[in-house]
Amino acid sequence: MLPSTSTLPLFSPQVVHRRISTTANGVAFAVPSAAAHIGGFLSKKPYTAPSWASELSLVPSHNFTLGQFPTPIHKWNLPNLPKDTEVWIKRDDLAGMELSGNKVRKLEFLMADAVAQGADCVITVGGIQSNHCRATAVAAKYVNLDCHMILVTSRLIVDEDPGLVGNLLVERLLGAHIDLVSKGEFTRIGSVALTNLLKKRLLEKERKPYVIPGGGSNSLGNWGYIEAIREIEQQIQLSGDVQFDDIVVACGSGGTVAGLALGSRLSSLKTKVHGFSVCYGPQYFYDNVQGHIDGLQSGLKSHDIVRIEDAKGLGYAMNTPEELKFVKDIAGATGIVLDPVYSGKAAYGMLKDMSNNPTKWEGRKVLFVHTGGLLGLYDKVDQLSSLAGSWSRMDLEELVHPKMAPVRCSD
Ligand SMILES: *Cc1c(COP(=O)(O)O)cnc(C)c1O
Repeated sequence: MLPSTSTLPLFSPQVVHRRISTTANGVAFAVPSAAAHIGGFLSKKPYTAPSWASELSLVPSHNFTLGQFPTPIHKWNLPNLPKDTEVWIKRDDLAGMELSGNKVRKLEFLMADAVAQGADCVITVGGIQSNHCRATAVAAKYVNLDCHMILVTSRLIVDEDPGLVGNLLVERLLGAHIDLVSKGEFTRIGSVALTNLLKKRLLEKERKPYVIPGGGSNSLGNWGYIEAIREIEQQIQLSGDVQFDDIVVACGSGGTVAGLALGSRLSSLKTKVHGFSVCYGPQYFYDNVQGHIDGLQSGLKSHDIVRIEDAKGLGYAMNTPEELKFVKDIAGATGIVLDPVYSGKAAYGMLKDMSNNPTKWEGRKVLFVHTGGLLGLYDKVDQLSSLAGSWSRMDLEELVHPKMAPVRCSD
């Protein structure tokens, strides 16, 4: 049994954390994360905010351990970087398998609240290939809740079986309840009214639903990426020699970039945070991030803590052939598989900005947060097929030798 962190002296108030402690002589050692001991994974535990975030409002009291944290940070040898620019990557895509990606960090807090409120099911909403809805379905089942989701799809196929591609396969295997609506209905009615309608119906059936907004982005969910900043701070502390000048991340519903920007400003990191938007323009996200940080009563202005760049291209979940070729080339060059909807567009946008404005990035150390989304790639197989690597029928000719028995195979 390891001593609890609270009985040991700590580096400084800045680094109080559940995963790092110091011995009496000040040597840092890593306390195994909650998932390290048997029964720790999927357990609910009391939450203490980092000291630099303790002034924010709505500090959560509990969270679940649903992900594999800390996620690794490693050098990412991207081609054609400006002079002396280093890019590092934080692998939040490795936070889990079915629970891969950035939504896990938010769900650790949201699920704890759902359970605390006595819910027996959750309701959420997203696009037809929403990673958030898939992650929510998994997390809900982990903590023994039912999951209802409203998925937005094209008007042309809204009455049809949505199939089993990508995220849908996981959701449907888990038995998530799926209600389809068209994009037009979604725009006209809005996500709040749609989830309220479903909530009313479930209440009428004596159920106890808990509503999670699209992307898990609300004041509670935002703590996921405030906590991620503490994790990064501690990884830096343990490593000693790396400092980052910039953090780059995709933004869709804004909660991830808001948590990172707020955490970075309040903590010792002070790293510049850039959000590359995959839907809507920059002004939308300055307002959206403002809403998130106002929700936590930070007293800060979004324009002072984040820089938003437009990387939406053709629009949400739509890709140009260049973007898909980029995803393919980066996978081939570095082994990192980006998703086409979020991280792929953000990385594409970042490298485009680096090539258009090299002096802005020269000599900087950049941390790119890989937010997951691999299952979304399955939705793009048709567009990817012409780009994907080659294959051939194995040539067995030389084995067919007079002295050798012919190769027998049953077709
Ligand atoms: C949801 C999502 C994002 C965007 O995060 P937000 O907090 O919604 O802005 C980025 N990448 C992936 C893979 C996602 O699923």
